[in-house]
Amino acid sequence: MDYIKLAELYEKLESTTKRLEKTYLLSKFLEKTKKEVLDYVIYLLQGRVFPPWDERVIGFSSQLMLRAISKSTGISIRKVEDLWRRIGDLGNVAENLIGKKKQSTLFTKHVTVKKVVDNIRKLAEITGVGTVDKKISLVSELLTSAKPLEAKFIVRTVLEDLRTGVGEGTLRDAIAWAFLPKIIGIFYQCNECKEFVPAVKKCLNCNSQIELNFKKEVEKKFKGLKILKVKKISDLKNLKKYDLIICKDERLARDVYNYIIEELQHAYDLTTDFGVVAIKLIEKGLEGLKEISLVPGKPIKVMLYQKAEDIKDGFETVGKPAALEFKYDGFRLELHRKGEKIWLFTRRLEDVTKQFPDVVSYIKKAIKSKDFILDCETIGIDPKTGRWLPFQNISQRIKRKYDIQKMVKEIPVMVNIFDAMEVDGKNLLNVPFKERRKILEKIVKPIKDKIGLAEQIITSSEKEAKKFFQKALSLGNEGIMMKNLNAIYKPGSRVGYGVKVKPVLESLDLVITGAEWGRGKRATWLSSFVLACRDEEGNLLEVGKVGTGIKEKAEEGVSFEQLTKILKPLIIGQKGREVRVKPEIVVEVTYGEIQKSPSYSSGYALRFPRVVRLRTDRTVNDITTIGEIRNLYKKQHKK
Ligand code: AMP
Repeated sequence: MDYIKLAELYEKLESTTKRLEKTYLLSKFLEKTKKEVLDYVIYLLQGRVFPPWDERVIGFSSQLMLRAISKSTGISIRKVEDLWRRIGDLGNVAENLIGKKKQSTLFTKHVTVKKVVDNIRKLAEITGVGTVDKKISLVSELLTSAKPLEAKFIVRTVLEDLRTGVGEGTLRDAIAWAFLPKIIGIFYQCNECKEFVPAVKKCLNCNSQIELNFKKEVEKKFKGLKILKVKKISDLKNLKKYDLIICKDERLARDVYNYIIEELQHAYDLTTDFGVVAIKLIEKGLEGLKEISLVPGKPIKVMLYQKAEDIKDGFETVGKPAALEFKYDGFRLELHRKGEKIWLFTRRLEDVTKQFPDVVSYIKKAIKSKDFILDCETIGIDPKTGRWLPFQNISQRIKRKYDIQKMVKEIPVMVNIFDAMEVDGKNLLNVPFKERRKILEKIVKPIKDKIGLAEQIITSSEKEAKKFFQKALSLGNEGIMMKNLNAIYKPGSRVGYGVKVKPVLESLDLVITGAEWGRGKRATWLSSFVLACRDEEGNLLEVGKVGTGIKEKAEEGVSFEQLTKILKPLIIGQKGREVRVKPEIVVEVTYGEIQKSPSYSSGYALRFPRVVRLRTDRTVNDITTIGEIRNLYKKQHKK
């Protein structure tokens, strides 16, 4: 497939903010995509070249991109940089310069999707002498053959900054629309163009009026199309054979659609790979998704927890009796084992096995099974006092790639296992939590201060719960978790099967999307940082700027120097003193109040924001959502 087709799609996606339109455009494109390149296309649509669980990183900075653009256009680096400052986006700079260069030449070379992915993937793999030059050559080779529009999106993909607003939900729906029969009621046939289009008044294909009359629609004669009549959800079999699904009523149509979407989401949560999900769907239909199961060695998305205001609120969400556990202030780890092989993954799905040889040895000693996927929170211990250390002290252990044995001694860790997704080949996701805990109790033989199960009580009493909460806090925990005893394990979801209860005002986890160079003695530091939350689709929405809480020097806590160092390679746009950065750095922020504000894209602004710490264990997917901010805002006004 020629890359230009994809570039044209990106352009269309960029020009609309409507989710339905984006989904329709994507689904039409996917329908036409050949199976051989489907996974590549799906990754590219997400702005990546590897599936999300793959830990390889492209690692190509804006500075290198300036050189690659210069090399492929013959224009000096300084001129490219000047234009960058004026336009603010390197993708647009490349489009502009390549457009000028090629105005009079014919485009003879074709850039294929495969070539783009292969070259960009190589960027992640090159090491050793001459790495920088080789990387620049790979990118400039693509840019030299590219048409202007292609160049724009190649640059953005390499810089991991695509910005076409295709979130996980949109892509998931588009895959369902493309590869499963259309459900009448969710889709209607346009009388003009005969396309099946989503149920909105105007046809998304030809713009003519659509009559949204379910009764009339199901009575239509759909000549030449294979139709599955559905009375109940269990009638959904062999979907690959059919073009259309007609349900007995409109409500069932909606239920069938939701069921299909949930099946797709579940398959994605298990694989974190829409490439795999789409190919299974084409090959084996909805039944194929059932074949996707848990495999030790392949990380899955962890289950997330909602917030409860207090213990009473917690019981209301999870029911009585509930399991209450310490909320350890550490970092989440997935423990995987298959035979003699052990893997440790963070919640960002990064493989950190090498960084934690101590944890690997505890697993071997303490866990009886040799086939499992378990969920736990790992905390640091002060070797002098034996007390638990707050998260920021151990975050260095996650990143450290050398002197590991020294780190093991300096910052020992303790593993608190709190859930089981798979044990001895049995998938436990649909097993009630109280049974999963029993299985854990059977297979884990705790070793004091090294590995054990999360401290737990089961109670219906608020009094007892409060006592447990106080005990948790006095030992240095962040609070407690309250869990529904009968809940299943739902990967990747923030369902109310468990809630967290913390004291005091909530802090927010926000991602830095921009910054400003300081003045005077701070001129070499980034000094004011733009913060953003996310919506359900993963789009980032700004909530304000912060400069408070950050120290002058790199002593305790977060410093300007440190933030500048980690943000500088992430700069992707600059105008005057303002820069835009890749949204990768997550900070925990407290605030005085949340206010409504037209100045920021979220519609809210934080008063007196203050950076508490860096959350290196968090990605942009884990940050506070706009929904949570809205709730906090409402709560404030209730008080
Ligand atoms: P938060 O980080 O505030 O969203 O709270 C949820 C996180 O608490 C989980 O992702 C875990 O990393 C952590 N955690 C600590 N102790 C537990 C526990 N006993 N059960 C579940 N999660 C825990």
